[in-house]
Amino acid sequence: MKIIVGNWKMNGDNEDKEILLKALKNLRTKNEVVVCLPFTLIYGNNHGITIGAQDISEHDNGAYTGDISGQMLKDADVKYVIVGHSERRLYHNETNTIVKTKAMAAIKNGIVPIICIGETSEEKNTGRTNSVVKKMLLESIPGQGEYIVAYEPRWAIGSGKTPTEDEIKAVFETIHKALHNIGRDDVALLYGGSVNGKNAKQIMNIPHVDGVLVGGASLKSDTFLPIIKSID
Ligand code: PEP
Repeated sequence: MKIIVGNWKMNGDNEDKEILLKALKNLRTKNEVVVCLPFTLIYGNNHGITIGAQDISEHDNGAYTGDISGQMLKDADVKYVIVGHSERRLYHNETNTIVKTKAMAAIKNGIVPIICIGETSEEKNTGRTNSVVKKMLLESIPGQGEYIVAYEPRWAIGSGKTPTEDEIKAVFETIHKALHNIGRDDVALLYGGSVNGKNAKQIMNIPHVDGVLVGGASLKSDTFLPIIKSID
């Protein structure tokens, strides 16, 4: 079974949610589909679709104005949470240590963290992709518990650009090997960065790719459904 995760980022309202989730409900797929909504849209009728969040506090509760805890997400029936998305690393200065603590907070509350890692264009252009990704991976993952890893090259997010098949293959081999070396062959690996209805199937056929993380194209059914259908 493949995993297709939509990340709405800071987009969408209740009407958009209603339209997309109803369309997903009517779609037959053997794969798992998850929609990571903004916090305000998580509650309400989710039409049986698996819901994820886009961030989680490192803390359990208390004086952390504006933050949302794992317990709160669990209470809202959230099954997955994205942690360490490059936009949070960039705009909120989230380090690997913070990402790891957030992943642990999710696991503690029975929520599966989707831990994002990926190189910048500068790191890619100086031939450091594999070493950067491996370091980010090993510093961001918790020592135990269920989690997913999403490889998202920063330069590919929202840009319409994707790595070549060989580049994706090499990075996934690096990630798979690093996880294998610590006894974690069970971790699902996703690719994210400008996935669309035309490239999803090809990316999904690359060894060790268990699914995709989709940003922009997950907002509307006419762009999200073709991705899901192409993978089925
Ligand atoms: C993302 O936000 O995680 C992402 C992959 O975005 P996009 O699909 O728009 O590149």
